[in-house]
Amino acid sequence: MDGETGVVAEGKVDLKDLSFPMLLAALEPLGFDRLRATRLYKWIWKKNVRDFERMTDITGPLRRKLAARYTISALGSAGVFLSEDGTTKYLWRTHDGYLIESVLIPDGERLTLCVSTQVGCAMACTFCLTGDLGLKRNLLPGEIADQPLQVSLGLPPDQRITNIVMMGMGEPLHNYENLVIALDLYLNQDALNFSHRKVTVSTVGLVPAMRRLVAETQVNLAVSLNATTEAQRAEVMPITRRYSLAELMAACRELPLRHRKRITFEYVMMAGFNDSLEDAARLAELLTGVRAKINLIPYNENPEREIRRPDEAAVRRFHTFLLDRGFCTSVRHTRGRDISAACGQLGGPDALARRLRRSRDSVGGVS
Ligand code: SF4
Repeated sequence: MDGETGVVAEGKVDLKDLSFPMLLAALEPLGFDRLRATRLYKWIWKKNVRDFERMTDITGPLRRKLAARYTISALGSAGVFLSEDGTTKYLWRTHDGYLIESVLIPDGERLTLCVSTQVGCAMACTFCLTGDLGLKRNLLPGEIADQPLQVSLGLPPDQRITNIVMMGMGEPLHNYENLVIALDLYLNQDALNFSHRKVTVSTVGLVPAMRRLVAETQVNLAVSLNATTEAQRAEVMPITRRYSLAELMAACRELPLRHRKRITFEYVMMAGFNDSLEDAARLAELLTGVRAKINLIPYNENPEREIRRPDEAAVRRFHTFLLDRGFCTSVRHTRGRDISAACGQLGGPDALARRLRRSRDSVGGVS
């Protein structure tokens, strides 16, 4: 398959890479109208049927035309890992042999799926293991949308994914064109049918793409901030040299957010680096006047980094400082650390190899 267009080697196009308007435009010349295209869409996204011959409410001649020109892909399972705290990590193998990950996080009434948007990542944030891989390729729209579909198929009948966060492997806005098609698949009622209120795209701060996302979609925006001065941020997030903290914050102030929307600012707390009360004061100053929620994420230690997690007292002090100044602030409880599913732990090369070995004993096993 061509990594960018979704056209498979034999010349067949993957229908999972098409938004509904794209599907309709592609199939009208074959004799499909809106009703027939909707039926096809439901077979793909509601019933997970990939064999055109099983699509019994589409006529035989149309099914044969589809089979000659199109295909319907699916991610292959390469392992399922269950954490002691109920978090589940899914390892997927793409058609060209790459491994990507999704993480399912139960939290009260919520069941949140963290999805990947790229194989690896080009952003090279120093605290994140995915950054060590570099960017291998963009995920196609169907690969981004297939993650919740495949996870849903394995859930008990009384459970469904309630929220989607695009915070797995990759920088979503660095794969903008494929991302917006995937978002269309997430939100379309005849496909995955999520509310825009339940879908969040997280970015390191690719400012022009952030503006486009807010103008072109209604989903929630999260910004991975992690520092309060230019030098401090540049130290851990190289993107700061391209889009400065000042430029990022100016854009956040000016974004035409829809009614009641707020930007979530993620702040990975690293001991001795960004966890002092001076940092908290600068953060409060940066976010004054921004429609913001703050999500504090105490760093998840791992053997491949020397970065330390702040102690609980430091996290509490920082949290209280922001609450006292009226900021809507929460501390993210670490989930899935024992299966390397926590924030910043996805996709380290050694970790992936270890997980693949361990997956033979896991729920899903290596397929
Ligand atoms: S934190 Fe996100 S953007 Fe940064 S390297 Fe990791 S995956 Fe990429």
